[in-house]
This record gives sequence, C-alpha cells and structure tokens, in this order.
Amino acid sequence: MEGRREHGSDLSRGGTPDSPTVIIGPDSDGPLPSSSEVVSGTGVRHMPGPIRFHARPSTRMAIRPTRARSGRLTTAHGVVETPQFMPVGTNATVKALDPDDLREVGATIVLSNTYHLALRPGHDRIARLGGLHTFMAWDGPILTDSGGFQVVSLGRSRTVDDDGVTFRSHLDGSLRRFTPEHSIAVQEALGADIAVAFDQPVPPHASSRAEVVDAMERTHRWAERSLVAHGRADQALFGIIQGGLEPDLRERSTRFIADKAFDGLCIGGLAGDETALQRRAMLDVVVPLLVDDPRPRYLMGLGSPLDLLDAVDAGVDLFDSVLPARVARNGSLWVPEGRLNLRNARFLDDGAPVQDGCRCRLCRSFSRAYLAHLFRADELLAYRLATCHNLTFTLDLMARIRSAIDAGTFPELRRQLIADGSSKEPAE
Ligand SMILES: [Zn+2]
Repeated sequence: MEGRREHGSDLSRGGTPDSPTVIIGPDSDGPLPSSSEVVSGTGVRHMPGPIRFHARPSTRMAIRPTRARSGRLTTAHGVVETPQFMPVGTNATVKALDPDDLREVGATIVLSNTYHLALRPGHDRIARLGGLHTFMAWDGPILTDSGGFQVVSLGRSRTVDDDGVTFRSHLDGSLRRFTPEHSIAVQEALGADIAVAFDQPVPPHASSRAEVVDAMERTHRWAERSLVAHGRADQALFGIIQGGLEPDLRERSTRFIADKAFDGLCIGGLAGDETALQRRAMLDVVVPLLVDDPRPRYLMGLGSPLDLLDAVDAGVDLFDSVLPARVARNGSLWVPEGRLNLRNARFLDDGAPVQDGCRCRLCRSFSRAYLAHLFRADELLAYRLATCHNLTFTLDLMARIRSAIDAGTFPELRRQLIADGSSKEPAE
C-alpha cells in the first residue's frame, strides 16, 4: 500500500473543485484524533471527491483491546455515522416499507441490487425517470452492489469466463451477460452515491483452494477493469477483497485491492457458509493490513446482532443484509433476550408489546396478540410492522455500539449483549 497521500489524490478521481458532491469540510466534524484520517502536514486534507470518511478508533482503551472504531461517511445525499447497517432494498424498495418508514426506523443509507434493477425495470428506464433516488423517492445515501453475488449465485444457469458472466434471468429465462464494464454502466445509470466493483465471490467453505485462487485472481482483474470503466465523478467506487478462508489469499487480495484507487474497501465472500470463528479469523487477517488506510471497510451480507457485534469488534464500518427484514416477514421478532416467533399460539393472548420500551411503530401502538393475529390472517400490515421492529432493533443496536465506542465501553457492551442474548433465549 503506497500510503494515504496517494489514496487521497485518487479519491479526487474525476472530481472538480466546484463539484456538487463535495460536502463537508473537516472542521465541521471537530477534532478527530484518528490514525486513519487522510492528513497533510497542517491537518486534514480538503479533498474533492464523491465521499469523505473520518474514522475515530475507540479512544479510552477498555479492559481488553478492540479494533472497533466509529466514523462519519459524508455523501452528497447525507451523512452516515459508522459502524452502520444498511437495510436492503432489492427492487428499489425495502420490502413492505416506504421512505417515511425507513427514516422512522433510523435508516441513513440503503442498499439496492444492481442485478435486480438491471433486469426489472431496467437501469435505462430508471435513468430516464431521474435516477434511483428520484425513482424510489429516497433522498438519503444509496449504495448499489455490483450484481456479482447474484449472477454467480445462479448456479448451473450461469457460466463464468474471464470477460464476464453469462446467465439466464430468474424472471423470464432470457440469456443475459454481465461484465465489469456493464455492471459499472448499470450502476452509473442508477446513480447511487456508492457503486461497487464487479467480482466473483465463491462459497467460502464449499470451495477448493484452486477455485478460490481462480475467482480471486479474476476478481482482481475485474477490479482493475471496473476502475477504468468508472467515470462518474459524483459517485464513489468501492473495491472487493476476496480470498475465501485462506489467510495467505486474504492477505494477497487485501494488499491488491487496497493498492488501487477505490474510495472504500468491501470484504466479500464471507457471511456465507463459514462459521463465525472462520469469519473472524479472516477479518483478523484483513483489518490489521488496513490499519493506516483512511477508507471505510464494508463487510458484505452480515446481519445478525451477534455477528455484527463481532465484526465491529474486528474493525468493520459498514454492513448490509436482508436478514432482519426477511425473518420479520416470517414472524420472527428480535428482542434483547433473543427472538419471539409470533406465529406461536402462545402470543395470541399476550397483550404486551413485542419489546417494552421499543420506539418502533409496532411496539408504540400494538400488542403481541394483535401482531400474532395479523400473521395468522395473512394481513399485509404484519409484514410492515414486523419489519419496522426488526430494523429499528438493528439500527438502535448500531447506535448503541457507536456510543459505546466513543465512550470507550464497547467491549463491555458486547459482553453484556452476548450474555443477555444467550442466557434468556425464549423457547419457541
Ligand atoms: Zn419495536
């Protein structure tokens, strides 16, 4: 890694001094005693570019060390405090919620899926209609993934070659093709604040070393092509680190991707079929290599509370997952003690809220009995209320994590939350 100065200048790729995307000068953030800022001899650099990121490591060292850090990511559509969780709006909507709901649950950035939107309704159509922010009426920050995970996950209906991936649409079976250049073109048309380089993830546990090497090297070549193809100055581009569960490959991939002029670094190929210990081992390879790197770190696809706590502890800033919303639609509601399955008959006479003291739309107004009834009657409101609760739970957890990091008490919070969640898990 060549150092901060080079990354700093790279961040201005394509930007102009009067770019509408330059938002906040560093002074507005106050003093930031961080080792991971981009600094010059006189302080923090003013860099033109699509995003800014300032990270603050946990200051007062608690009983045991942690790599947890809080930070602030500034985009043209708003500020994202980190560590942060991004709800997933696959089809330009977080299922069952509208943008007002999203604001209420505390979302400050959402993820949308390039693969799905390219197939339906089509990125050109969204561009003609004013871009993704206008189309989905969400004026906050948006990140689009590259489509790599979706097309590679299509199993037998896709073939990977060095140029790209040919696959059959899950909608109509038509033959389609994604290349790094096409993924970038789609993401530029959608116009999210942050785009992601096209990659080839592999299931970490179920892949041979040879398969992991092959996919990693291809991902590296595609990362370089994605950078060349990307020209939209008001959009950041993140690169993806791969390397499976092999420490030496993770290290190679981290060094390769971190050496490129990306605006942020995704850690891909995890949150899959690996164990929590295997995932942590890989994060303990990747993050120490980035200790002096000023860019945000984003672990793709992670969403359960205990997994988020562990990855924050390992030094990750950004997360996304369909998990909180998906399990909510199945009737599984997250509470500090574990989870409640609202399809269980014992809740039909339970007049208490799902979670005492929860600020969400569900818990403010309705009982467990009412929600249990809605699920049994297949009422649509059940999906909205349950999703509001699980996303509020997740985003409030992230807020508590950020406060604890800033107070130097994150290790204690983590220990306490693990104890609460594992000791009182209700029977279902
Ligand atoms: Zn609630």
